[in-house]
Amino acid sequence: MTTIDNDTLVKWRREFHRYPETGWAEFVTTARLIEKLEAMGHTVLTGESIINPAFVRGRSPAIVEKAKRAAKERGIDDALLARIGDYTGCAVVFDTGRPGPTVAFRFDIDCVNVQETDRNEHAPNREGFGSTNPGYMHACGHDGHTAIGLGVARWLVENRDMPLKGVIKLIFQPAEEGVRGARPIAESGILDDVDYFACGHLGCDIPSGVVVAAPERYLSTLKMDMRFKGKAAHAGMEPHAGKNALLAACNATVQIMSLPTHGEGMTRVNVGVLKAGEGRNVIPSFAEMQVEVRGENEKINNYMTEEALRRAKGVAQSFDVELETEVMGEAVDFIPDDEMTAYVTDIAQTVPGVKEVQRTMNFNGSEDATLLIKRVQAHGGKAAYFVVGSDIPAGHHQAEFDIDEKQLFTGFSIFTGLLKRLSA
Ligand SMILES: [Zn+2]
Repeated sequence: MTTIDNDTLVKWRREFHRYPETGWAEFVTTARLIEKLEAMGHTVLTGESIINPAFVRGRSPAIVEKAKRAAKERGIDDALLARIGDYTGCAVVFDTGRPGPTVAFRFDIDCVNVQETDRNEHAPNREGFGSTNPGYMHACGHDGHTAIGLGVARWLVENRDMPLKGVIKLIFQPAEEGVRGARPIAESGILDDVDYFACGHLGCDIPSGVVVAAPERYLSTLKMDMRFKGKAAHAGMEPHAGKNALLAACNATVQIMSLPTHGEGMTRVNVGVLKAGEGRNVIPSFAEMQVEVRGENEKINNYMTEEALRRAKGVAQSFDVELETEVMGEAVDFIPDDEMTAYVTDIAQTVPGVKEVQRTMNFNGSEDATLLIKRVQAHGGKAAYFVVGSDIPAGHHQAEFDIDEKQLFTGFSIFTGLLKRLSA
């Protein structure tokens, strides 16, 4: 029994779509989630009860403070902001009071740093729910994931007398983009008693009506910022007195981009940003690089990481500049558990509107839910990550991206189907 229908999910999805927030800045989103979840009767965990600050990556205090001010301006009250504290995201722990397994689902809530198109043909503009936060857009479907999570939360309350058994945890994770938010959640310990874990993604270039039960080839990845610090000097009078950070960073870029590949599997490397220098006639004293490496598995990724760091250190030494590195995000690969894959497959086949359940696909990207999955698997739990196909007018992370809203109910039905199987 449930009062959740696709219209309810669409309404929530549109509400979140209208105000997208970037990773670690999801204060309005988190506040709205807490309000809705508590109105349903849930106990909601926030802040450091689900986030271990020691493992927070890629969080800009300036962006966070700006987002907090914006949240106040949008009418989020001080008490609620105080409860959220410095770390966004929240979780529901639903204890049925009856013995049974602990099941956890993860829904990511952040947006992408993309300006949404202003074309009127774009459905969010046509229907009046386009982004009102300039420069930010739900261009990866996480607004849909958030809505599905809320749907599951209400379903839990409505079906507690099924009777449901065990404990069900719903994790609303911040900062998936840039693979930043999962590690601090894993390190909070909230998943350490979990027997079954599932996570899903809308779209991923799979059409509406198709569900992929167990995608493969998630790439392990490490995102690093590298900062070279040299010494400024007059470029005409005493160039010899300067230490050139720009030149160091350029050399490091060339060396890192030409890292050898690994014989045991796929690798990737990218230097996506290089910023350096102060002015035309100054020996550049500062340079910053945004680097990422990926590998088919953790071993290969660690190899790429070590080699990239070795190159950067060597360059810093040869140019006599200082090197500072900071980990900005991380994810790993994982192997789905057959038991969970079978459940997802069985359930998806019974969901109206699902025409085909595909066993696998090549994910070929990185997703930090893998860190949550590894944590669950390390304690003997079983995990699944599935893809709910959705026709999309443009690729993920593009200004014209949109989801097929009819698929929200498909996602909701798979998660609740898992609960009927695992917790009933
Ligand atoms: Zn995504």
